[in-house]
Amino acid sequence: MKILIAEDAPVNQLLLANFLKPYGECHLVSDGESAVERFRESLEETARKYDLVCLDIMMPEMDGQAALKEIRHLEKERGLHDGSRVKVMMITALDDSGNIMEALVKGGCEAYLTKPVSASVIQQQLVELGLI
Ligand SMILES: [Mg+2]
Repeated sequence: MKILIAEDAPVNQLLLANFLKPYGECHLVSDGESAVERFRESLEETARKYDLVCLDIMMPEMDGQAALKEIRHLEKERGLHDGSRVKVMMITALDDSGNIMEALVKGGCEAYLTKPVSASVIQQQLVELGLI
């Protein structure tokens, strides 16, 4: 599968890429704007379609919450709904109910993981999301 990882901290980028590499091709970006741009490009070509997007929340320029809303907006514009939408997993240090609710309810992410994450937590989520 194809995986887009948006994370601004180089150490976390490495960690996530290592955890996710066994499951597919990982593309890394460091901010929300680049994530949205990459995602937008991927919608133009079926072969480049992402199966999973992992979003950090605290990132420069555009944060993960805004990127999530933008991704869902792009999908909606193209008539993509529930079954055909990309699976989005938030992976963040923020564990307050405000952020969790915003991502799950308003944003429409499929999973919300709190850092630090482990390889087994990621694997379990991939199973729950039906990706592996
Ligand atoms: Mg961050």
